[in-house]
Amino acid sequence: MKNILSLSFLFIVALAFSQTKSKGFAVHSTDGKFQPYEFNRHAVGDNEIKIDILYAGICHSDVHHVRGDWGKEEYPMVPGHEIAGKVSAVGKNVTKFKVGDYAGVGCLVNSCGHCEYCKAGLEQYCKEAVLTYHDHDQFHNNETTQGGYSNNIVLTEKFAIKIPKNADLKKVAPLLCAGITTYSPIHYAGVKKGNKVGVAGFGGLGHMAVQYLVKLGAEVTVFDITEDKRADAKRFGAVKYVNVNNPEDLKDLDNKLSFVISTIPANYDPNLYLKMLNINGQMAIVGLPPFEKMPIIPIDKLIWQGNRKVFGSQIGGIPETQEMLDYSVANNIYPEVEIIPATANSIENAYQKVLDGKVKFRYVIDMQTMK
Ligand SMILES: [Zn+2]
Ligand SMILES: [Zn+2]
Repeated sequence: MKNILSLSFLFIVALAFSQTKSKGFAVHSTDGKFQPYEFNRHAVGDNEIKIDILYAGICHSDVHHVRGDWGKEEYPMVPGHEIAGKVSAVGKNVTKFKVGDYAGVGCLVNSCGHCEYCKAGLEQYCKEAVLTYHDHDQFHNNETTQGGYSNNIVLTEKFAIKIPKNADLKKVAPLLCAGITTYSPIHYAGVKKGNKVGVAGFGGLGHMAVQYLVKLGAEVTVFDITEDKRADAKRFGAVKYVNVNNPEDLKDLDNKLSFVISTIPANYDPNLYLKMLNINGQMAIVGLPPFEKMPIIPIDKLIWQGNRKVFGSQIGGIPETQEMLDYSVANNIYPEVEIIPATANSIENAYQKVLDGKVKFRYVIDMQTMK
């Protein structure tokens, strides 16, 4: 008995030593107050890599999770699913990366690998997908996953995205969520050169959508609720800007667009955009408002409005995320970022700006500045 006890003690000690020490910033309740936080991640497995995080983007969905907008959350929570860094360790079976390579992580760190979604490269819809944070990793003793506002992350090489050497690294992180979330439905919808299209909500996701659509040669109309972004929309190549709060702006828009992507993260009227679609037009919905303020599309509107299609889309699978990143870097498509230092205070200030709609267009935390 004594031997078994001392053996299990040794096992626990060995496990503790082999774990990966991490530190970052966590919230401990919905109050949004960040504090320095030290925690353990699992050890680097044979098929896994460790990434030293250099940059972490602040996504609007981080703010939703911290505040519990999408249901009850567990705390402490280290948010962050837009991660860019450098590989600092590799397991013995790893072939995709070597130490010193740049690597990115988006919203997913694992999935079952054998369901129909995984086989199709649509890991984001796998029932066993493990989210980068606010999740439990059933492949690692149900460990609580913690995100990118931290100094490192450990994950299977399959879910890490290769960042080309010539990438503008400080701008890469938001591509792993804002980039793929807009790139995927635009390509799924088959938008082509000359198409008249709309982007509803001109924030972190919206300004990526505009860039992808302009690159495809589409004529882009941008919709938002402020005058402040009119000049920015032009600067990114939109042909028209509509302030939805201005009735004059909204004239003569019905039946004009073949595709609309809605990135709006708050309550709004989707029917406004549905009416703008022409016959066979498509509306992609990627912005997810808080649950208690969920917009509604009455089905009679769908029936009366000429074969319009509405579809939802969630990030993108791993193969498409790699494709998006290579495409973005090759075509010099990046988010417009404001780099902030890794302090609790600057993260909290950034969250307030996101909530106030004052962010232009993405905050990225320089994790190297963490004390
Ligand atoms: Zn996101
Ligand atoms: Zn699966």
